[in-house]
Amino acid sequence: MQIVYNWHITERCNYSCEFCFAKWDKATEICGDYEKLEKILANLSQKEAISEFIGEDIASVRVNFAGGEPLILGKKFVEIVKRAKELGFETSLITNGFLLEYNLEIFKYLDIAGISIDSLDENICKSIGRCSRESYLSEQKLTGLVKEIRWNYPKIKLKFNIVVSEYNYNTNIVEQLQAFEPDRLKILRQLPFKDKKGITDEQFERFLSINEKFLKFENKVIENKSDIIQSYLMIDPQGRFFQNGNEYDYIYSEPIHKVGIKYALSQIPFSKEKFMSRYNQGGASNG
Ligand code: SF4
Repeated sequence: MQIVYNWHITERCNYSCEFCFAKWDKATEICGDYEKLEKILANLSQKEAISEFIGEDIASVRVNFAGGEPLILGKKFVEIVKRAKELGFETSLITNGFLLEYNLEIFKYLDIAGISIDSLDENICKSIGRCSRESYLSEQKLTGLVKEIRWNYPKIKLKFNIVVSEYNYNTNIVEQLQAFEPDRLKILRQLPFKDKKGITDEQFERFLSINEKFLKFENKVIENKSDIIQSYLMIDPQGRFFQNGNEYDYIYSEPIHKVGIKYALSQIPFSKEKFMSRYNQGGASNG
């Protein structure tokens, strides 16, 4: 099987979403420290350690870079992904898409490009905070980006992530995004975190029923609260594994570059069953 690490490389972002869960400590990010980054990549490449932890043979390892918004790091981020590729990792990116047009070089080093889009409606994007100085990722801009990926990088898999929140649960965004024929479309329920409550079961059901017709496509993955909690291998900008603990904060390991991957893994709660079910079903483009 393939192991996927979700590395939130920075908390910095050009958007300011109301329900953002990327809250750590900007001052202690290690994204500028190549020695620590190199040590973490070396640890993540240790297939035996993770194989022992999961109890399965590991065929390949993918690092899914997320944030914050990784592309805000510019050239520095491109170098990190390039290095991961050189070390033999599969690589993927989750971006809000806004800065992609200025960082097209990143596609040379990616296997999967994931764009998180909760709405293509300007008013909804602005209500959520998914905008940068009054500007947002419009349908027109997205069309241009998708064309760029499909035309110049045909081997890259395209993925969309939608977070269902109180702002978009009444919309048909799935239908709009399926028109781009993505390889994977993931729907995630907004989780309660800190002072944000998340959405109700009824609101999530409402979203699924509005979009029902377009959820029949095989490319989709739907993740409700319990599917998400403690089912990802997530790393924070300080190089620590972290997991959702209660609704108010995260549970952390010590930094991977200090204690090694084996010990760090032993310090976080993790549901092997949920993890296996996601990656066995979703294949290479899930995560
Ligand atoms: S785009 Fe993502 S990281 Fe940025 S503010 Fe929104 S939820 Fe947070």
